[in-house]
Amino acid sequence: MRRIAAASWLVGIALCLSGASAAENAEPPARVALRAARLVDGVADRARTDAVVVIEGERILAVGGPELLADGLTVLDLGDATLVPGLVDAHSHPLIVSDDYQVAHLRDSSAFKALRGLKAVQENLRAGWTTIRIAGDADVFYAHLDVRRAIDRGLFVGPRLTGAGHYLSITGGGGDINFLAPEVHVAADGLVVDGVEAMRKAVREEIKRGSDWIKLLVSGAFMSAGDRPEDVHYSAEEVRMAVEEAARHGVPVMAHAHATAGIKLAIRAGVRSIEHGTFLDDEAIRLLVEHGVYLVPTLYIGDYYIEQGSPTGYQDKMIELSKKYRDQHYEWVGKAIRAGVKIAAGSDFGGYDPAINAGEIEALHRAGMTPMQALQAATRVGAELLGWEDRIGTIAPGKLADLVAVPGDPLADLSRLRNPIFVLLGGRVVRHDAPAD
Ligand SMILES: [Zn+2]
Repeated sequence: MRRIAAASWLVGIALCLSGASAAENAEPPARVALRAARLVDGVADRARTDAVVVIEGERILAVGGPELLADGLTVLDLGDATLVPGLVDAHSHPLIVSDDYQVAHLRDSSAFKALRGLKAVQENLRAGWTTIRIAGDADVFYAHLDVRRAIDRGLFVGPRLTGAGHYLSITGGGGDINFLAPEVHVAADGLVVDGVEAMRKAVREEIKRGSDWIKLLVSGAFMSAGDRPEDVHYSAEEVRMAVEEAARHGVPVMAHAHATAGIKLAIRAGVRSIEHGTFLDDEAIRLLVEHGVYLVPTLYIGDYYIEQGSPTGYQDKMIELSKKYRDQHYEWVGKAIRAGVKIAAGSDFGGYDPAINAGEIEALHRAGMTPMQALQAATRVGAELLGWEDRIGTIAPGKLADLVAVPGDPLADLSRLRNPIFVLLGGRVVRHDAPAD
């Protein structure tokens, strides 16, 4: 049995993330097997030991043990590593790279943001995040949707992207620029939309430009200047209009909502997911369960800012609010976990060092999930939130071969997920670090 016969397959892709040459140089062999000490499939509540996954083309053919290793099959043995499904970041902003992001938005062109955003999503992919839902991003001209187009057309290798063009915000809300003099007119980082009819048009425009999610800032935000997360911004009528108009096109709505009344209003209006959910209460948790709405708590970004500080000072507001509300946010997410709310992992990063994205999986464990539940929140549950569970999120025959290997056992130490050694996207190797042995 050959341990690694397909050297060109591995090297060709791993070294080159530009699409055309990778496709030319590194067609994967028709059928390969991956072997690892452990495998977490995204469904079972225990890891399988001495696992083998057989891959044919872009899909998984079989999952089992060494009995699957037939003569002549190319085998890549990853040793003392754990295979997990490709990770799903349910809340990312690849164009946002720094804590003074609203200033960076005014400084950088759309073209520059696209180039930087492409690099960011490629780095996220190498960190194991094979699918990313963008929760609106900081560019007037939809740079991240062009990044997705370039990846989908095969110009570059990148993760599977879905999401919203903008975060829609009220005047003075989290997607508006609130720190300039009234006589200065600029294009805000979000899309400012006020009123029911304006919402109808904005949703149509977002979808026209390629959004496959609509993102609403239903309450104020932590990171933007001049607004308060405790306040509800959109009216029930505006949110209902967004949901109704988006549904006409088969597009779901994700609602950024910290304020309790905003969370409830958004659930009742029919959104698919609540982002952040800082000020949950018992009724909000009951509504999440009853309506089958997903919660994406983005817990870790607050911890990150408390630990790291804000080099520019622009996130001093974020740090102050995070210190004030961190403990209660964890507590309410813990109650939501115990109540059976569907919870997906979302980093709220994107353009930052991608190793920190996995901090959210650790945070969900701190909030009360088992390590296995937390890993499933970043794989299977994320896929279900996207409605992509037929393609990704678990390691099972027929699924796309999006696989990540981390050294050792991540269920014993979730921080292992920060540093994968191997990443496979649709059967193609995008990362393979030299084995330690
Ligand atoms: Zn966000």
